[in-house]
Amino acid sequence: MEKVFHLNDVVEMKKPHPCGTNAWKIIRMGADIRIKCEGCQHSVMIPRREFEKKMKKVISSTV
Ligand SMILES: [Zn+2]
Repeated sequence: MEKVFHLNDVVEMKKPHPCGTNAWKIIRMGADIRIKCEGCQHSVMIPRREFEKKMKKVISSTV
């Protein structure tokens, strides 16, 4: 099933961040996706294909 997500959505990943938070905001979209941990503000960049595999669900969407 194709996952739908947009810029500024907050998503839950299959694995929480080591800081204990499992809410990530999508802050950049492209061939790579940049997400920022809502708990500690740490951000990571991951390839879109990998992001789609690791993302569990959208928690909140502004769209
Ligand atoms: Zn964190």
